[in-house]
Amino acid sequence: MRYCLQKIVVVAFLMGIPLLSFAERLGPYRCVKADMPIVIDGKLDEAVWEKAEPIRFKCHIPDKWETIQFAESGMPERADPIWRGGWAGKEKDPQVLVDTARRLGFSALMIHAGDDFAYLNDLCQRASAANIDVYYWYHISGTEKNKDWWQVVSPEEAEKAKRIKEDKEPDKHGYQYGGEPVNDQTDVFDSELLCFHRPEVVEDCGKKLETVLAKCPGLAGVAFDYFGYKNYRCCRCPVSEKLLDEYFKKCLEGKLPRDKALEQFSLDTLSDFNNRLAERCRKYKPGIKIATHVYPTFLANPVYGNRLNVDYCMQTVAWYFEPFWDLAKVEKYTTNVVQDAKRYYARPQGIPFVGIFMDSKNPKLDKPSQRFREELKMIRKAGSQSFSICPFNIFIKHPEFGDILVEELGLPENK
Ligand SMILES: [Zn+2]
Repeated sequence: MRYCLQKIVVVAFLMGIPLLSFAERLGPYRCVKADMPIVIDGKLDEAVWEKAEPIRFKCHIPDKWETIQFAESGMPERADPIWRGGWAGKEKDPQVLVDTARRLGFSALMIHAGDDFAYLNDLCQRASAANIDVYYWYHISGTEKNKDWWQVVSPEEAEKAKRIKEDKEPDKHGYQYGGEPVNDQTDVFDSELLCFHRPEVVEDCGKKLETVLAKCPGLAGVAFDYFGYKNYRCCRCPVSEKLLDEYFKKCLEGKLPRDKALEQFSLDTLSDFNNRLAERCRKYKPGIKIATHVYPTFLANPVYGNRLNVDYCMQTVAWYFEPFWDLAKVEKYTTNVVQDAKRYYARPQGIPFVGIFMDSKNPKLDKPSQRFREELKMIRKAGSQSFSICPFNIFIKHPEFGDILVEELGLPENK
């Protein structure tokens, strides 16, 4: 089955169209729900189609009659084990990270240590002794060195980003830093992100991660972060515009209005970037795990993470600071994140992610412990004991938050 999952590419409205190569891949197969062309491995012949049979996407089972059938819900399957992942900064004594993770039933630490490979290797060794996985925290933020590869936004969006940067109000008028915006004056990210529509960016990311995996043999995996759009919608650079034009003409002209096509293109190519990079890591080092935090938000579909063929997909169910999300929304998002994780791929486990701020310069941004408890109660109510948080280091400085976590979500049996 694993061979098939790697080998076969199913292209569909719901699954994403590979970059640069969609033109020759369109074919007659159709998904009965999506009503869009499906192609397997770029080929249309029946033998290839039949070979695809073992693919076990939860919702799609290809058949040979030019349709995609949908698996019945309630198919017997093994429940995923409880998994907890903490996004953590370096601590002077790395053992503190490991001990805290063990105490709170965490399975993994995603470490922001940059290229401090000595630190990472030391941590891997300590974590391995405690049966905890370490992931390399990887993002695609732009730097002065790669300015040519930055995403481009419209002049209006650039103006908004400038205003946000210059805003000295403590809460920056409700700015959410990449989370779901509360108004249309703050719906742009104030940091730069690389344009992953550029083949040179995709190649650079792949090479970088291969180097990391070579230098840190103890890593259990790679954790993606900041994979998204600066304006939460699309990139407006010439490379992206050209690709969109081709995509629209070949696939969607006459079928979808241009603005809807842009949404579909942006989501397809964003998913495809994640999936290609994950596949490249797995190819380089079989068995390597890929985790991701879906961030910054994608406005047309904030909970799109089940399109990503990764091992652990963390999606925000409760935001860092005020306005705190309505508890009904926390429950709704958790249910979606956990129960819908295998809609497109068999691999992913959906993990609810909670952001938290404490001790910030502006106390208004801090999350009260009672609020944290209520969010955890909702996650538990929605049926999950799995969990992810950023920053994990909060549990070191504020052990009482860790106590709340264990009280509300319990400890995995194997920890
Ligand atoms: Zn671009």
